[in-house]
Amino acid sequence: MAIARGYAATDASKPLTPFTFDRREPRDDDVVIDIKYCGVCHSDIHQARNEWGNSTFPMVPGHEIVGIVRAVGSRVTRFKLGDRVGVGCFVDSCTTCASRDLDLEQYLPGLVPTYNGFESDGQTPTQGGYSDHIVVKEGYVLSIPENLPLNAAAPLLCAGITLYSPLRHWKAGPGKKVAIVGMGGLGHMGVKFAHAMGAEVTVLSQSLSKKEDGLKLGADHYYATNDPETFTALAGRFDLIICTVAAEIDWNAYLTLLKVDGDFVLVGIPENPVPVHAFSLVPARRSISGSMIGSIKETQEMLDFCGEHGIVSEIETIGIDEINGAFERVIKSDVRYRFVIDMASIKA
Ligand code: NAP
Ligand code: ZN
Repeated sequence: MAIARGYAATDASKPLTPFTFDRREPRDDDVVIDIKYCGVCHSDIHQARNEWGNSTFPMVPGHEIVGIVRAVGSRVTRFKLGDRVGVGCFVDSCTTCASRDLDLEQYLPGLVPTYNGFESDGQTPTQGGYSDHIVVKEGYVLSIPENLPLNAAAPLLCAGITLYSPLRHWKAGPGKKVAIVGMGGLGHMGVKFAHAMGAEVTVLSQSLSKKEDGLKLGADHYYATNDPETFTALAGRFDLIICTVAAEIDWNAYLTLLKVDGDFVLVGIPENPVPVHAFSLVPARRSISGSMIGSIKETQEMLDFCGEHGIVSEIETIGIDEINGAFERVIKSDVRYRFVIDMASIKA
C-alpha cells in the first residue's frame, strides 16, 4: 500500500478537506500515475453533495485525470515510465459479457467508476483524481497526444468524450444543424467538436454574456434562452440538440426547436424527472435520448482527434485548497470554462 494525499468530501453537507488514504500495491497489469492535473466536473459536485442519492463517504472526487507514469506492472506493454497519460470516469468494467466486444462498456453492468464506487471485489471504495497519485489497470489508461498541454487536456477525459460520443453517434457533420444547450464545461467542448466535425453550430445559453467566446470557439450562431423570441426564431431548426444543462428547464419548448426526425440528447443529469409532452415529439417524429461518456476505445479516438485538430479545453487553473470556492463558481455558471486543479498544490 502507498499513502495518497488528496481532498475528500466526508459528508454531503460539508466542504472538501485534506484527506490521506491508501492506494493499492500495483498488480502485474497496473500503471501507477503521478497525477499532475485534474478537471472539476459538475458531476463531482452532484456526487460530493449526494444530489443523485448514490454517494458513499469519504469521497475523493475527480475523473478528469492527467499525469505521468511513475511505475508499471510486469505485464504492462503499452505504457512506460514518463509517459503522458489520462484516466477518465471508470477504471474497470465487465470483462466476461459478450457485448464487451461492442466497445460500449460504459453502458454495461460491472462498470467501476473512478470514484464513488467499489472495485470489482465489491468492497474496496474507489477514490478519484483530487489526489497525488492513482493506480489503474492498463486497459483503462489513455495516451495523451504529445502536442496537447497536459492541464488543458484534463477535461477531455470527461467533458470531451461526453460531447464527442453523441456528436459522432448522431452523425454531426457537414449539412447538419447542431445546437448545444449550455456553454459550460461540457457545452464549450461540444462547440469545438461540432465545429471541427463540420456541422453548423448554434449555442443556446441563458444569456448573451458568453457570446463572444462561443463564436471564437467555433459557434456559427449564439442565442439567449432567456429571450422568448429565441424559441420563435429557431422553431423546427435543428437536426440534433445536445443538452448539457442539469437544471429544470422548459423541455417542451426546446423540443419544438427540432426538425422532423430530430434528436434531443440529454447529457446533463438533472436531479428530478424530465417532463415531456407527447405533442412535443409525436407530430414531428422527434426523439429524446441520453448519452453517457464513451468507451475506452472511443475516448482514445477522441484524444487522437484532439491531437490532430489541436483541441483542448478552455481552463482556469486552481490550487487544491481553492476547490470549495470553485464548486460555488461552477454552480453559478461562473467559470471560463473548466476548473483544473494543479496537483503540485498538494502540500507534503
Ligand atoms: P457546468 O460547467 O456547470 O455547465 C452547465 C451549463 O448549464 C452552465 O454553464 C449553464 O450554461 C447551463 N445552466 C446552468 N444553470 C442553468 C439553468 N438554471 N437554466 C439553464 N441553463 C443552465 O457543468 P458540466 O460540468 O458541463 O456538466 C453539466 C451536466 O452534465 C451535469 O449535470 C453533469 O453531471 C453532467 N455530466 C454528464 C455526463 C454524461 O456522461 N452524460 C458526463 C459529465 C457530466 P449557460 O451559462 O451557457 O446558460
Ligand atoms: Zn464528469
